[in-house]
Amino acid sequence: MSSNYLICTGCQKEYPLDRIFPRCDNCFEPLEVRFVSTKKFITDKALFSRNILEHYAHFYPFSEIEQKLSLKEGFTPLIKADKLSQLLEIDNIYLKNETVNPTWSFKDRGTYVGVQHALSLGCDTIGTLSSGNMAVSVAAYGARAGLKTIILVSADIPSEKIGPILIYHPILIKVSGDYGQIYYDSLKIGRELGIYFLSSDVPFRVEGSKSIAFEICEQLDYKVPDYILIPTSSGGNGRGIIKGFLEFYEKGLITKLPQFICIQLAGCAPIYQAWINKEDSVSTIKNPVAIDNAIANPFPPSGKALLRLLRKFRGIVTTVSDEEALSGQLMLAREGIFAQPAASVSIAALQKLKAEGVINKESRCVAIITGAGIKYTGILEKHNFNVAASTLEELKDIIISKLAD
Ligand SMILES: *Cc1c(COP(=O)(O)O)cnc(C)c1O
Ligand SMILES: [Zn+2]
Repeated sequence: MSSNYLICTGCQKEYPLDRIFPRCDNCFEPLEVRFVSTKKFITDKALFSRNILEHYAHFYPFSEIEQKLSLKEGFTPLIKADKLSQLLEIDNIYLKNETVNPTWSFKDRGTYVGVQHALSLGCDTIGTLSSGNMAVSVAAYGARAGLKTIILVSADIPSEKIGPILIYHPILIKVSGDYGQIYYDSLKIGRELGIYFLSSDVPFRVEGSKSIAFEICEQLDYKVPDYILIPTSSGGNGRGIIKGFLEFYEKGLITKLPQFICIQLAGCAPIYQAWINKEDSVSTIKNPVAIDNAIANPFPPSGKALLRLLRKFRGIVTTVSDEEALSGQLMLAREGIFAQPAASVSIAALQKLKAEGVINKESRCVAIITGAGIKYTGILEKHNFNVAASTLEELKDIIISKLAD
C-alpha cells in the first residue's frame, strides 16, 4: 500500500484511494483517508490568522483594529470557469465567489470595516436600512460585536426574509413610506441619536468593497483582467471595486485598469437609464418590477458617483432581463456555484455583451458573484425542475434509464 490510502474505521482494512464506494466491504463501516505527508508541518499561518484589514493595512486609515469582530469575511475564491468559457466562447472567465462570506454575500466586507469605524468613534449602536443581505450582515456583525443593532426594513418585506435577520436578535422595525426617503431620514436620525447607520454606500462600506479588487489583483498575480462585471444596485459596491483598482494603480502595483461593467435588471435600471440618456443625475424608477430586490434599488444613492467614475474610466452599463438572470443562475450552478439571481446577472451580461460584440473571444473577464442562492429559495420554483421518483424495486432500472437520457 502506498502512503495515501483509505482505511476502514471499523476493521482497519486498507483500500486504494481510487474508489467510489465509501464503506468497507468487510464490515460496512465508513472508510477514511490516510494521507502521509512528507512535509513536517504547516508554516504559513497568515491566511488563518489575518483578516482583510490586517492584510491590506496600508490601504486603510485605522491605527488600531479589533481582531475579534471579524468573522473572516473576504479572502474569497477566484475560480476559473472553463465550462462557462466554452459555452459563452470567451477564453477566460473567472468567478469571484462572494457567496462564501460569513453571511453569504459581499456585504460582510463593508459591514466589518464599518463596524471597526463605528467602534473607533465610540458608537454603541449601529443600524441599517435593508430588507436583504445588508440587514442580515449588519445584524450578524452587530451581534458579534455586542452592539445595539437597529434594522429598518420596508413594511412589505416578505416573511421568508425576516427570520434570517431576526435570528441575530437585532431591533427590527418595519417602516412604511418611500424607501428612498427612509434612507436619507435614517441617516439624519442616526446623526441626531448617535447611531452609526451602515447603509448601502456609506464610506466605510465602500472601503470594504475595495478589498474585492485587491484580492482579484493578488489572485491573478497582478495581471489585470480586461473586464470586471459588477451586479449594481445602490452603486456602493461598484464604487468600492473601482476605488480598489485605482489605489493599486496609484501605488504602482498594477499597470492598467480593467474595464468596469455595471449590470442592472431591466425592470429597475435607474443607473442604466441615466447612462444611455447621457444624464449626470439619476431619476427614481416609479414602479420597479424585478426578480431580486438585491439589485433593484429604484433610487440608488451612489448612482451619480458611480456614473462619474464610469464615464472617467471607460465603463460600461448594461441590463439583463429577469429571465436572463435566471438562466445565468442555472449556468453558474453548472460550475458548482449556487448564486442568487442578483448575482447571476454577471453571467447573463457576459453572454449578452459577447453576442453584441462588446466583449471578444480573447477577453479575460472576472464576474463578481455577489451573493448566495440559498438566501432566496422561493425563486427556485421558476425553474420548473423535474424530479424522478421510484420504488425500491424499480430503483436500479430507473437509474439505468435516467443515465441513458
Ligand atoms: C447589495 C447587493 C448587490 C448590489 O450592490 P450595491 O452596492 O447596492 O450596488 C448586488 N448583489 C447582491 C447579492 C447584493 O446583496
Ligand atoms: Zn460633495
